[in-house]
Amino acid sequence: MTPSTPATAKQPIANYVGGRWVTPKGTESLPIEDPATGDVLGRVPLSTPPDVGAAVGAAKEAFPAWRATPAIERARVLFRLKALLEEHHDELAVCLTREHGKIVSESKGEIQRGIESVEHACGIPTLMMGDTLEDIAPGIDCETIRQPLGVFAAITPYNFPVMIPMWFWPYAVATGNTFVLKPSEQDPLTHQRIVDLATEAGLPPGVLNVVHGDRQTVDAILEHPDIVGVSFVGSSKVASSVYARAAACGKRVQALGGAKNHMIVFPDADYDAVSEAVLSSVFGSTGQRCLAGSVIVAIGEAYVPIRDRIVEGAAALRLGNGLDEHADMGPVISKSHAKRVHDFIDRGATEGATILLDGRHPSVEGYPNGHWVGPTVFDGVEPQMTVGRDEIFGPVASLNQASSLDDALAIVHANRYGNAISIFTTSGRTAREFRYHAGISMIGVNIGVVAPMAFFPFGGSRGSFYGDLKAQGRDAIEFYTDKRVVISRWS
Ligand code: NAD
Repeated sequence: MTPSTPATAKQPIANYVGGRWVTPKGTESLPIEDPATGDVLGRVPLSTPPDVGAAVGAAKEAFPAWRATPAIERARVLFRLKALLEEHHDELAVCLTREHGKIVSESKGEIQRGIESVEHACGIPTLMMGDTLEDIAPGIDCETIRQPLGVFAAITPYNFPVMIPMWFWPYAVATGNTFVLKPSEQDPLTHQRIVDLATEAGLPPGVLNVVHGDRQTVDAILEHPDIVGVSFVGSSKVASSVYARAAACGKRVQALGGAKNHMIVFPDADYDAVSEAVLSSVFGSTGQRCLAGSVIVAIGEAYVPIRDRIVEGAAALRLGNGLDEHADMGPVISKSHAKRVHDFIDRGATEGATILLDGRHPSVEGYPNGHWVGPTVFDGVEPQMTVGRDEIFGPVASLNQASSLDDALAIVHANRYGNAISIFTTSGRTAREFRYHAGISMIGVNIGVVAPMAFFPFGGSRGSFYGDLKAQGRDAIEFYTDKRVVISRWS
C-alpha cells in the first residue's frame, strides 16, 4: 500500500490517481484549519484541468477490467473495506473531529453511516440483478440486464466529509464503474485515510481516484467528455448550476442542495420527548446539517411549553472543542462561516424577530481562535424574514406559531426548499393528513432528524434537489447502471 501524503501546514496533500498519491500540477493551495483552534492542519491543492484529466484517464483505463471482475469479487473488496473501517473507526473519528469540528460522538455516528453504505453495497450480486420473462411472444424471451456505464464523479460538501462521498462511490464501484471524487476543500483529510483503507482492501488502481480543488476543478469535471455521470451535494445555488451544466454536457446528474426544515408540534405530543428531538435536530453538528431542524412551528397551546423547554435546553448546551468529552456542541467550519451565521442573527433581530437566546460571539476558554457560534433561539419568526426563509446552516432555532395543520403547512409551503420535515403528535389521523399533504421528501413522524438509512433513498424535492434518482439505496443502483433489454428468439 502506498500511504496518503501526511498533511503538513506547508505541503499540500496529494491527489490519488491510478493507485498512487501524486502531486497535482496546479500550484495554488488553500489551508485546512482545525475549526476549534484555528491551527492549519494541512493544505489542499487546487487541481487544474490536466490534473482532472489524469484522474479521469486512470479511471477510464481501469474500467474494462473492473467491469469484467465478477460482482461477488467486487463485493468481497467492499466486505474487506467494511472490516477495515470498523477496525479504524475511533482513529477516523478523531481525524474527522479535528478537521470538521463536530464532537467525537457525532464523528463516530457519521463514520457508522458511511460504513452502512459500504455494507449495503456489499449486496451488489443481488441488488444488480435484472428481470427475465419467457415467451413475451411465442418462442421469444426478454430480459433486462444492468450494466455499468464507465467513469462517474462526485463533488461533495464539507458538512459530512466521510459519509456523503460514501453515498456514492461504494455503489458506483460495486456496480462495476470507476470513479473520481472531488471532496470538499475545507476538510478532505479523513477521506484520504479512507482511500488508503480501500486500497488495503484490494480496490485495484484506477477504480477510485481523488482530485482536490474548488470551483475550477469542478468545472473541469463537468466538462470532461469521459465522465458519464455526476453526483453533487452542496448548496442549492451551486447544485442547480451543476445540474444544468452537467446535463448540458450530456451527463447523468443528481444534485442535492440546501434545506430549511420545519418541525411541527401538536398540543397532544409529549413535550419532553419533542424538545429533546428538537434540540438535537437544531443544534446537533452545530446546525451544519441538511437535515437540521430550523423552524419550529407550534400549534395552539403547544407553543409556550415548547418554547420554554427549547430555550432552557439550548442554554444548557456546552460549547467546546469536539475532542473534549464534555462538549455538547463544536465550532462551525470556518471564520467566514461563523461571520455568516452571526450576520443572519443580526438580520433576524433587525427584521423584528425576538432573540430569546443570543449565541453571537461567545468565548470558549482556551480556544481564542476557534470559530464559535453559541446556541441561538428566535421567537416570532415570520416566513418572509431572512431567518424564517433562508438556510442558516448554524445553531439557530426559529420559533413560530400556527393554529392548525393547514396553517403550519402554509408556512412550510411558502418556503422554496423541500428536504425534510417532522411532525410530533399522538394522533394517527393528524400524522396521516400531514404525510399526505406535506409535499416534502424526507418525513419524520415523532422523530427529529430524518436520516434515511443506506438502503433507502436520501434526497429532497423542490429547491433542495435537482434530478430524479436520489442518493444511496436502490436509487444508487439505478443511477450507476443502465438497464439493457435483450429480446431473444432461438428457433
Ligand atoms: P458548497 O455548495 O459551498 O460546496 C459543495 C461543493 O461544491 C464543494 O466540493 C465545493 O468545492 C464545490 N463548489 C463550491 N462552489 C462552487 C461553484 N461556484 N461552482 C462549482 N463548484 C462549487 O456547499 P458546502 O458549504 O460545502 O456544504 C453545505 C451545503 O450543502 C448546505 O447548503 C447543505 O444544506 C448542503 N447539503 C445538502 C445535503 C443534502 O442531502 N441535500 C447534504 C449535505 C449538505
